Amino acid sequence: MKVLIVGQGIAGSVLAHTLSGRGCTVSIADAGLPGSSSRFAAGIINPVTGKRFVKSWNFDLFFPVAMRVYREIEHLTGTSLIRQYPVVRLLSAPGEVNDWSARCAQHDYAAHVRELPDAREWEPMLKTGFHFGEISRAARVDFPQLLDAIRKYWTAAGRFIDQTVDISETDHWLSEFDKVIFTEGFRGQFNELFPTDLWRVAKGEALIIRFPGFQAHVFSSMLKKTAIIAPLEDGTFWVGGTYQWHFPDFEPSIGEKNFLISHLAEMIDVPHEIVGHVAGVRPAVKDRRPLIGESPVKKNVFIFNGMGTKGALLAPYWAAHLASHLFDGQPVDPEVSLFRKSN
Ligand SMILES: Cc1cc2nc3c(=O)[nH]c(=O)nc-3n(C[C@H](O)[C@H](O)[C@H](O)COP(=O)(O)OP(=O)(O)OC[C@H]3O[C@@H](n4cnc5c(N)ncnc54)[C@H](O)[C@@H]3O)c2cc1C
Repeated sequence: MKVLIVGQGIAGSVLAHTLSGRGCTVSIADAGLPGSSSRFAAGIINPVTGKRFVKSWNFDLFFPVAMRVYREIEHLTGTSLIRQYPVVRLLSAPGEVNDWSARCAQHDYAAHVRELPDAREWEPMLKTGFHFGEISRAARVDFPQLLDAIRKYWTAAGRFIDQTVDISETDHWLSEFDKVIFTEGFRGQFNELFPTDLWRVAKGEALIIRFPGFQAHVFSSMLKKTAIIAPLEDGTFWVGGTYQWHFPDFEPSIGEKNFLISHLAEMIDVPHEIVGHVAGVRPAVKDRRPLIGESPVKKNVFIFNGMGTKGALLAPYWAAHLASHLFDGQPVDPEVSLFRKSN
């Protein structure tokens, strides 16, 4: 089967790898359009999120698939893409501390959360007055490196198309490929082949910083309160992210930069230097589930999208699901179907 994947963010990259593993001849088209999300994301997989410390949807099902697929891509491309390290969770309000203790006592959270006596290596940089928890089984996938490695691999195979695919050209592409799969990130909301009222895209921004005197690569955990700080391999720290549902452009903004600096100041008591400021638009949908299915108006044209805030965790499992749909005739799970109803 010959497949064209339109869009090479994390969704398109992982899908290309998965379909190729099922014996497809895959080509990928992408011209690096502005506002795309994967290149600026931290790629964090966090099993326990939100103010109530709730386990991510189907985490125990999705996580092993994600780890397996990223390891395969590492092996294929000769890169090192995954780092498994825990999140140190700062707890301040009494309610927060109580909720955390309650989670630690729950049997089904035992593998994921525990109380900590201190903030480990973050201790010398921290403001005082916190309690501490640890979120285990967290990880970070190096999205920029993965995107570069997949692009290089597909280019070397002569199957990377450096151009934007317009939906008016779909018939042309269908004369060359058996299936066309759109993985366009937030631009999927404008694709008229897949009408849905489920989109609720969210721009996000992050800062890349240094803490003079502290080397990021010796840190063996991430730190989270409202914002998350992730040490990166190049010695910098990623600090993010923000959420904007209405935005005039794709550029980083002063307002969100100040917002992130204020969150950083709630946690950290040492000086920092900002060395980067990035922005992207998350392909989020109202019910926070992916969007998968065949176009109701164009046969053999599919969407694989809606990874929202969790592309790192969701893309591998749902790419395998779409592959089973295409190859084995397995129906698309109603929870991620393009045709589900908006509440
Ligand atoms: C600040 C920020 C922090 C984040 N942190 C995390 C995190 O820690 N962990 C996590 O899992 N997720 C995180 N996310 C969310 C994550 O970025 C998304 O879930 C994921 O990257 C979406 O990937 P995608 O491939 O669907 O879309 P995108 O990454 O947006 O990729 C879409 C691609 O399609 C291309 N394209 C679009 N239309 C066309 C066309 N017609 N023709 C050709 N090419 C086209 C674009 O150029 C682009 O390269 C974060 C997002 C932001 C903004």
